[in-house]
Amino acid sequence: MSSLSYQANSLYFGKTKLEELLLKEKTPLYVYHLAGISERLNLFRENIPKNAAIHFAMKANANAKVLNLFQKESVGVDVVSAGEIQKALNAGFKPDQIIFSGVGKTIEEIELAIDQSIHQINIESAPELHRIGKIANKKQKKTKIAFRLNPDVDPKTHPYITTGFRENKFGMEEKCIPELLSALTLYPYLELTGLTMHIGSQIRTLEPFNAALDKMIPLFSSIRAQGFALKNFDVGGGLGIPYENAENNTETVALIKNYGKLLEKVAQIKDCKILCEPGRILVANFGILLAQVQYIKETSYKNFLILNTGMHHLVRPTLYQAYHQILPVCIFPDRKEINYDVVGPICESSDVLAKNRILNEIKADEYIAIADAGAYGFTMSSRYNEHDQPKEICI
Ligand SMILES: *Cc1c(COP(=O)(O)O)cnc(C)c1O
Repeated sequence: MSSLSYQANSLYFGKTKLEELLLKEKTPLYVYHLAGISERLNLFRENIPKNAAIHFAMKANANAKVLNLFQKESVGVDVVSAGEIQKALNAGFKPDQIIFSGVGKTIEEIELAIDQSIHQINIESAPELHRIGKIANKKQKKTKIAFRLNPDVDPKTHPYITTGFRENKFGMEEKCIPELLSALTLYPYLELTGLTMHIGSQIRTLEPFNAALDKMIPLFSSIRAQGFALKNFDVGGGLGIPYENAENNTETVALIKNYGKLLEKVAQIKDCKILCEPGRILVANFGILLAQVQYIKETSYKNFLILNTGMHHLVRPTLYQAYHQILPVCIFPDRKEINYDVVGPICESSDVLAKNRILNEIKADEYIAIADAGAYGFTMSSRYNEHDQPKEICI
């Protein structure tokens, strides 16, 4: 199920020959392979327990056609702002398919969520519980909430995408639970329907998930024993992909299968639905960013491949030292291999997409594809330096 492949030294994305696509499309360009996303979604769905529902984390990719695909497949969404709630509603998601997460929900955002009767608001702090409770009381409107706990596990991913460690701003400590439960007596319109966690992103081993579940499952039972009718166990998202190896799919298939088996632990809990919030794992592999080489700049120290895209369109390398494979759209077997630093036009030294990459020699005006840019690519893009944002198309 790999979407990128070379045939006769020409790069294909799915069945599309990129050389041909580039005759009619301008770069920089995000391209998404919908059939790939659909296949990945099916793989994920087949491997998680039967009582698990998927809520795609739309901050990973909010392209209208991508959202449409998930909506048609009866998948819900996980959102983190009013803008995302609005976009999800516009894409046809029903309010009860929307889960609202995030540490900084404003009054306006909470009012929108309550007015729309969305499925669940994930509460991230005691002050937020009081704010939401007061708004629900004033509106006299039943509001379903879940407590997001910080299980204090170290997911061993990049520190900027760790969210379930004690030093992170996300979730609430276990020791706060008694205070949170007693606060609920002030707010009769709040209904505590579940617990939720999300320990980080780009996690490629199951141990941190396992450790977090081992802390959360007893808490779930103990809150139920105190008379709260919890119905949902939300396990968050966070599965990662091997960015260093864009064509290889075996690790991802194995990770998804084993993740599904791990969730059987949660499926054992009686009368409890599992909610999954995957983002990256469903879409990252099925997006590329196509760019054109503007200049080859040779200095005494480096060969720079200067592109018409950079950190403003794909910030992950700058933000997290993330690795993305760089693939020439055409390979010329008679050319030599050269060590490049692949950079953008932005006036920042951190505008580097890839360092020390040995590539088949590339000349100015030729094209390259940046692999695995389907998650946290366009959604994180900006207009820094007053450049246009890239166009997005689906194949
Ligand atoms: C970002 C996020 C996700 C998705 O994370 P991935 O690593 O892309 O799977 C899920 N849940 C919450 C609350 C998030 O913030």
